[in-house]
Amino acid sequence: MTGKTHQIIGVTLGLGAYLTLNNPHYSPATLAAVLIFSSIGSLLPDLDKASAEFWHSFPVVGHAAGKVVDPFISHRNITHSLVGTILAAILFYYLFYFFPSYWGIETNLVLISAMIGYASHLLADSFTVEGIPLFWPIKWMVGIPPKPFDGIRIVTGKWFENLVIFPIINIGLIFLIITNWTTIKIVLFK
Ligand SMILES: [Zn+2]
Repeated sequence: MTGKTHQIIGVTLGLGAYLTLNNPHYSPATLAAVLIFSSIGSLLPDLDKASAEFWHSFPVVGHAAGKVVDPFISHRNITHSLVGTILAAILFYYLFYFFPSYWGIETNLVLISAMIGYASHLLADSFTVEGIPLFWPIKWMVGIPPKPFDGIRIVTGKWFENLVIFPIINIGLIFLIITNWTTIKIVLFK
């Protein structure tokens, strides 16, 4: 899946989780953090791709460095696995731990949203032709539906993603906001 699809899925599910778990009270900073970190969480697994492109732009050095840190910089590796998910949870946990309390951010809710964003990325990628190495370091690419039915899986960046999935999730997000508008108003404006 492409970044924009991951992001819209992550934000929609992160917001949905927040609206489900939070009893409505004035907390605009928490809502803002939920939106920001569910978005970051949903994009984080593809950092491997971004850094791979970065390292490979230096032909000689990149090749050597690539050998050393390969699990982190070749695409769909550790970041698309259970091990990566646990590492991301630890990373977010410590990041939010250092948020000063006067920011008024309920970090538990933000952590849950960020991890829902992260998990939604892995789930979405598992519907693609390549699948994901869920049990890394075991190099078994897991996908939905499993082989031999993988012929109906999605091709990243093609029509089904762009013209069906992306618009449907956008409509879902708008629907979520409209149906929860009373709650959102309490969170934002008292
Ligand atoms: Zn990915």
